[in-house]
Amino acid sequence: MKKTSVLLLATILAIMPATAQQTPEIFHYHSTPIGISVLPELQQNVQTGILIGATPEILKKYAPDGIIPSAVNAFLIYRYGQLTLIDAGFGRKLFDRLQSLGFTADDISVVLLTHLHGDHIGGLLRDGKAAFPNATVYLSKQEYDYWTSSEEMNKLPENRRGGFENAQKTLAAYGDRVFIFEPAKIDAEVQREVIPGIYGVAAYGHTPGHTLYKIDLGTEEFLVWADLTHATAVQLPHPEIAVTYDVHPEQAVATRKEILAYVAKNALPVAGSHMAFPSAGWIFENKQGGYIFQPALTPEAVKKTVSEQLQKYPGTRLQDIYKNFFQDYFGPGHIIPDAATAKNYLQQELDAYTEPAGVAVEPTGSEGNFYRINLSVVKEKKISFKLFLDAFIESAHDGIAPPPAVWTAQWNHIVRIIDDMQPGIPDYEADKKRLNDLLAEGKYAVHHSDAYEEQHKPHYRIISKSVFEKKLKNRL
Ligand SMILES: [Zn+2]
Repeated sequence: MKKTSVLLLATILAIMPATAQQTPEIFHYHSTPIGISVLPELQQNVQTGILIGATPEILKKYAPDGIIPSAVNAFLIYRYGQLTLIDAGFGRKLFDRLQSLGFTADDISVVLLTHLHGDHIGGLLRDGKAAFPNATVYLSKQEYDYWTSSEEMNKLPENRRGGFENAQKTLAAYGDRVFIFEPAKIDAEVQREVIPGIYGVAAYGHTPGHTLYKIDLGTEEFLVWADLTHATAVQLPHPEIAVTYDVHPEQAVATRKEILAYVAKNALPVAGSHMAFPSAGWIFENKQGGYIFQPALTPEAVKKTVSEQLQKYPGTRLQDIYKNFFQDYFGPGHIIPDAATAKNYLQQELDAYTEPAGVAVEPTGSEGNFYRINLSVVKEKKISFKLFLDAFIESAHDGIAPPPAVWTAQWNHIVRIIDDMQPGIPDYEADKKRLNDLLAEGKYAVHHSDAYEEQHKPHYRIISKSVFEKKLKNRL
């Protein structure tokens, strides 16, 4: 198979900043003593021309504008006071990012490399010298062997050897502080621990020694999956699609399928070098084939949602916060077994609702995938009973409804952010435990708390955003 031009990669990446959007903030996952920060260098769109094997139907569905959101990220791991960097991006923003977190290049003690493409090792050199004077550098033997092989380099015409020269120059700058290791397969019985708590995972294909890193966070594992995807919006539903800068496209496809299956099965949180902000989350199998990505909510988004809810509804308990986020992903589906039941249920609720009050329309959770529509809109005849019922039933099909393990992981992530807020909610710890027990039993849905019911008398139904905008919005 023909080797992909490294120069081509450099050319594609050089074009990217022209279409770059505003660079968002650093995304943090988990907290002390072990945490991960995604350090974005840029957010960008890549062209569909990089895809190998995408049919017009696929492109129409997943990249209707001919572009795919992407990014260039490095990762910072905090483990008991030690700072480890995974890759270094082009190096254009990395040092500013570190500084904004209160660190300098001197503080980095380890750099783990996923592969030696320029958008991953650019930041290792500054003015031609090692940018991290105190760091040891680790990479896979397979990657080292490829980029230091004059035989491989000489297969390319002279004007396309820049990537090899750059890789060799970068490794040389770190001299005897470069260490090589052999990664293990993701499901291997014996995993390859590179430094304490961080494991190298073989993911060959994109480059001959492309390596992922699995991090033991204590309570769970986290996978930095590097360049497993370059066009996530297309390659998750269709993992069989490669990109023009894979060195071995067929091997890259087989690797992607293998890793995706493992990650989905184990509900492992992941982050990618070229996944758009927030660049981290979970994936799960799509019943129609391929996989779906559920981004981890950002701490900023969670804090905003929780603060607003507490301010508007002082009777809020943790389970009411849970309910709000839960509804955002699951919609009303779990309470609509059939149309007749839904009708009775709605009628009963209306009969019991004697004094309409409160906000008419409120989005759920942080994403606003659904709306809570106050039944006052039916009481006050702004919307007919039949129209409302139809909208309610239609909304049942719109939930993202991730599998239990993924929802549980997202909720745990949300709770860690709320813990950090120290919101002073009554019965917080007891409610937290009760919700955990509920999820452990495989149950999802909860009622509003008694305190919330008493103080705020909620009378709403959940309608999906798309149904609301199509059927109800213009009447309110
Ligand atoms: Zn890359």
